[in-house]
Parts: sequence; C-alpha cells; structure tokens
Amino acid sequence: MSDRLPGFSTLAVHAGAQPDPTTGARATPIYQTTSFVFNDADHAASLFGLQAFGNIYTRIGNPTNAVLEERVAALEGGTAALAVASGHAAQVVVLQQLLQPGDEFIAARKLYGGSINQFTHAFKSFGWNVVWADSDDIASFERAVTPRTKAIFIESIANPGGSITDIEAVSTVARKAGVPLIVDNTLASPYLIRPIDHGADIVVHSLTKFLGGHGNSLGGIIVDAGTFDWSTGGKYPMLSEPRPEYHGIRLQETFGNFAFAIACRVLGLRDLGPALSPFNAFMILTGIETLPLRMQKHCDNAKAVAEFLAGHPAVASVSYAGLASDKYNRLARKYAPKGAGAVFTFSLKGGYDAGVSLVSKLQLFSHLANVGDTRSLVIHPASTTHSQLDDAAKVKSGAGPDVVRLSIGIEDKEDLIADLEQALGA
Ligand SMILES: *Cc1c(COP(=O)(O)O)cnc(C)c1O
Repeated sequence: MSDRLPGFSTLAVHAGAQPDPTTGARATPIYQTTSFVFNDADHAASLFGLQAFGNIYTRIGNPTNAVLEERVAALEGGTAALAVASGHAAQVVVLQQLLQPGDEFIAARKLYGGSINQFTHAFKSFGWNVVWADSDDIASFERAVTPRTKAIFIESIANPGGSITDIEAVSTVARKAGVPLIVDNTLASPYLIRPIDHGADIVVHSLTKFLGGHGNSLGGIIVDAGTFDWSTGGKYPMLSEPRPEYHGIRLQETFGNFAFAIACRVLGLRDLGPALSPFNAFMILTGIETLPLRMQKHCDNAKAVAEFLAGHPAVASVSYAGLASDKYNRLARKYAPKGAGAVFTFSLKGGYDAGVSLVSKLQLFSHLANVGDTRSLVIHPASTTHSQLDDAAKVKSGAGPDVVRLSIGIEDKEDLIADLEQALGA
C-alpha cells in the first residue's frame, strides 16, 4: 500500500469493510443475529464493564452495522459513529446525552417538518425546550443563547427550500456559547458538504435519504467529530460525571475524542432501544458505494430542472441555491461547490390550486413524502409535511401554500423536464 490517503469514492466503497475472516465473503455479510457468544466469563464481564470492545447484543452493536458506522465516520471525517433505526432516532439519542429536563437547545427554523414536530411536541414532554432561530440572521442564534442552552441544531442544506446554512458562522456562535454544533447533513450527504470541516461537533443523518439512496430502508446515524470538550463546567453530566450503570466510569475521561459516540451507544441506544436492523445496514452500505455517482447526477439533474422551471411562464419563483440568481448561491458556491443538492421548491402563479393540480398531473414523478430516492418525487408541503404549522410558520419555514417541493432523481433529465412541461400545461 502507498501512504496516499484514500479519496472520497474509494472510502465510499471500502471504508470499514474487509473480506469476511471466516468465509472470505467480499460483500459485507448480514449478521442477522440478536446475540454473540462470549469467549468465557471474564470476556463477558469485561464487555459489560466497557473494559473491552466487542459484540454483546444487536441492540447495542452488530458487525454489519459496525461497517456502516466506520464508513460514514470516514466519509464525514469524524472519529466514530453510531447507526440507529432512523434519522429521528439519531436526533433523540444525540439530545438525550446533552440535555437534562429544563434545558434548552437552539434550532434553525428552516428544518425538516418532522423535526419541527419532534422538537416542539415530543421533546417538550422530556422537559427539553427548543428555542427557534433564523439561519438567515446569525445574530438570532446569539440572542437565543441562555445559561440553559446545551446545543445548537441546524441543517446544512435545509428542508424544504434547499437553502444553504452558513455553518462556519453558526459554529462561531456555538464556540462562544460553549455548546456543541449539531448539523443534520441529510440533504447534502458528505459528498456535497462535510460539516465537520466547517466547525460541526456532531453530524446526524437520516440514512433513509441520499446515503441509502434507493427509497427502500430506514436508518439514521450520529457522527462524533471528536472536537468538543465535554468536561467544561459540569454542563454535560452524561459525559463528564461517573456513570452508575458502568461502575462509576467517566465517559469523557475514558474514551477521549470518541466519548460522545460511546455515550450515544451505551447510554442512548442501549437504554432507549432504537437499534438499526442489520439487513437495513446492509442495504444502506450497498447504497453508499455509489453515493458519489448518484449525488453528482442528482445535482446535475436538479440544476437542469430548476433552470427549466425558472424559465416557465406558470412558475412564480424557484428556490434552488444552484441557480446563479438565487439568494443562497454565494453560500452554495462556498459550501457545496459540486452541486447544491437535489431537493428544492418552486411556487406557482396559480397558488394552492395550481400546486394541487400539478401534483395530480405528474406521471414520472411520484407523489409521496420522502426525498433522496433514485426516483424523482414531488409533494405539496403545505398540505402534508408542514400541514401542522400555521400559515405564518409555513411561510417562515419555506412551505407557503403555493410552494411545491421536488426531490430530483437520477433518471434522464429530458424525461423529467417533459413530465413537468405536460403537467404545467397550457
Ligand atoms: C427524513 C429526514 C429526517 C428524519 O429521518 P427519518 O429517517 O425519516 O427518521 C431528518 N432530517 C431530515 C433533513 C430529513 O430529510
């Protein structure tokens, strides 16, 4: 081997994987087992006491999932990762390590609709309070900081409008406040943006979207950048204080720059239970092998479709950061030079009714609530993913009544444009 560091496409195919030591299988096997035999009683005790790493029970870890974890950690430039059952599970496991009841976290308002729901309602019952900020106004994050703030949460490319967040600017606010920056990198994938390079301390993904990429498996992942010092000021007791469930171990002291990933596994996943099925890990790993090829095609197609829509007389506006005229184009060129992603919105001059009519006339696009599939997808957020918001909040989060969201797939762009053309009609 040369001492060259492998490039992104090489990591996407190989990171974390080796031929199976017993069978020689080259693809990563699906270790479809709940539990693993211990060598002897001492081995069992050391695994349970966190003195040794190894497999115990698939709720806590599994060899197929471990390959996925190592691969995504490598692609994101983190120290370690933890795979879980869904993107939402990743978010709850991350925040459980950081917040005590009564604590706050700051989140950008432009967010996946499900995350707005989770943060507003589900987390309230845990005593975790979300404080909203505006990613177009970095000072709004600063103003939201209080002594109870424990984290800041943003999306790199934000749902549904595909706007680009100034990660470095928000990271500066987080540093000053002494709290970690969590970046949901689902819509960008590490092929387009690596948030850790821009100051993120924790990256989360819905693997369900571009990383898996084929619309067939739910999954989520947490990547630890290894950058944050959890010992400061007793603010993060899950990491800095002795853990009674592990004979008084302090996770930060014992595990250093991957203590956060360990906390997520041994306190979050173990006790909350949202484990990823090894079968889904296998499907997602297979998807990741072609991530660079797919992502480039997604972006190139999205740009062509956005340009077509911007020139169409029935279209009022297109919100795609890859267009030179877009207000996020400067940030897109800085953070995502290979392409501005494949999820974006546009609005129709005919308003709500025109949106509903368009969705019903499209044939190649599937009308459904997902993004990041090989297939092109369409949805009307105001009546679906963002329907729980009032009108003002819909507009603020980029999902006004006249807005249609597209997730552009990897079909031939000419076919996508032809389908939109017939559906927009005369
Ligand atoms: C889908 C999605 C989630 C939630 O992920 P699930 O796998 O559906 O739980 C979170 N954030 C973003 C940006 C998403 O697109």
